[in-house]
Amino acid sequence: MSNPINTTLLIIGGGPGGYVAAIRAGQLGIPTVLVEGATLGGTCLNIGCIPSKALIHVAEQFHALQGYAGDSPLGIRAQAPELDLERSIAWKDGIVKKLTTGIGALLKKHKVTVVQGWARIVDGKTVDVDPVAKGKAGAPQRIRCEHMLLATGSEPAALPFMPFGGPVISSTEALSPKKLPKSLAIVGAGYIGLELGTVYRKLGVKVDVVEAQDRVLPAYDADLVKPVHKALKSLGIGLHLQTQVLGLAEDGKGLRIQPPKADEQVLSAQQILVAVGRKPRSRGFGLSSLMLDMDGLAVRVDDRCRTSMNGVWAIGDLTGEPMLAHRAMAQGECVAEQIAGHVRRFVPAAIPAVCFTDPEVVTAGLSPQQAAAAGIDALEGVFPLAANGRAMTLESTDGFVRVVARRDNHLILGWQAVGRGVSEFAAAFGQSIEMGACLEDVAHTIHAHPTQGEAIQEAALRALGQALHI
Ligand code: FAD
Ligand code: NAD
Repeated sequence: MSNPINTTLLIIGGGPGGYVAAIRAGQLGIPTVLVEGATLGGTCLNIGCIPSKALIHVAEQFHALQGYAGDSPLGIRAQAPELDLERSIAWKDGIVKKLTTGIGALLKKHKVTVVQGWARIVDGKTVDVDPVAKGKAGAPQRIRCEHMLLATGSEPAALPFMPFGGPVISSTEALSPKKLPKSLAIVGAGYIGLELGTVYRKLGVKVDVVEAQDRVLPAYDADLVKPVHKALKSLGIGLHLQTQVLGLAEDGKGLRIQPPKADEQVLSAQQILVAVGRKPRSRGFGLSSLMLDMDGLAVRVDDRCRTSMNGVWAIGDLTGEPMLAHRAMAQGECVAEQIAGHVRRFVPAAIPAVCFTDPEVVTAGLSPQQAAAAGIDALEGVFPLAANGRAMTLESTDGFVRVVARRDNHLILGWQAVGRGVSEFAAAFGQSIEMGACLEDVAHTIHAHPTQGEAIQEAALRALGQALHI
């Protein structure tokens, strides 16, 4: 074993949680070592948020051009487009490379020591790092620390009766296809199933989505997902709701499903994408030896991201839902600042969530149903994008913005929107809730015209009974 490294903060995992914690710790002058076994940037930059959004853009452009090859109301006529998939994937990989290299540079700038390899926990203050093989295996590197931050993320959940391999793929393979399948069956109409299902369909693949619940995106409220459901149908995606997956077809070329009140069927498909959630990565590197309090596979943390062991912290997907990159980043910052002696807690007023379907869905804070369930007497204001001029000029009138606020003092509790491009509303939604805005604050803020953002103002006005454009 080589000489041990001694440090104040040791971070295991260089995803958005781990690398942001490391950068902030570096800014605060905390000696920091970050261990990463794969590539800096984690799931998000390499096989998650960024590559999926890149392919969504490719598919959107391709699909729009296809529209112009037909009968376009815009008066544009184009030849049928062709797709050079190899180039699309290379473009996507180029963005990933640029961003992950950038993380390396930022860590260097902030004097963070990056150790490449897989960490194995020895005890709450010690890990051994097995070097990532470059030709031959080297001796493990021991690292001792005062604080250990666990940020090992998550991995795709498999169906026990249909493990990954052969035609059964996870999002990782779906994001780097060598060739598009003719047909794709997707298990799970959640984030991944619908974002990637839309990509594949827009690129010309026959897509079927099988969902156990009675609607797509069951984590969101029913009204919000209606425009998404409608758009998926009009794209020609087969939706099989309240349907059980029984397994692979006997010839391996399809999926056996059990629809409600009907006989078992086989959906023919060249590939099957299983997108039934992700599980925290808490096994296989000695974490169980720490005997931390757990919630299933997730490490349990308090409102300061402390685990049940003194000096051991955990953030991001490893700590369970919501498994979102911006939550992991915010937790990472919070931990670094506490180690520097700041008084911090992780108690956000809202963690926005976006599903990058077409139309997009964005939420922050409470829905009307959640406010009612919490016993709050709430008002709501809904403004349809059909009444917004900018939305008309963008051909994106199917959708709405909704605000939820306390009836007594008009404090804003939540926002929801569905529509093309509404993911960008996440900033305004998050800020208004975090800053404790009331309906009047938003209603009396001048919103630039013509923008889709005017629908945010109009939703607040409508909740006050003062909507101007409806
Ligand atoms: P991760 O990003 O998973 O990083 C953990 C890192 O730890 C990995 O790099 C791993 O190699 C490393 N590691 C694990 N064990 C060890 C060990 N023993 N030693 C050394 N290194 C180790 N979220 C959003 O907010 N918006 C999106 O649009 C979005 N899109 C997504 C699309 C897809 C297809 C997927 C799969 C996920 C998406 N997510 C999205 C979720 C997002 O990627 C995660 O929430 C986020 O990456 C979690 O960050 P993390 O730091 O907790 O873990
Ligand atoms: P998900 O939890 O979003 O959706 C899983 C879906 O699968 C659910 O609708 C569930 O009812 C369904 N399901 C579960 N078991 C099933 C079965 N046996 N048969 C049929 N349906 C079944 O999970 P995901 O889409 O795999 O995404 C994983 C996580 O990654 C998300 O929870 C999210 O945290 C993150 N993610 C976020 C984004 C984003 O922020 N835009 C995008 C992609 C992924």
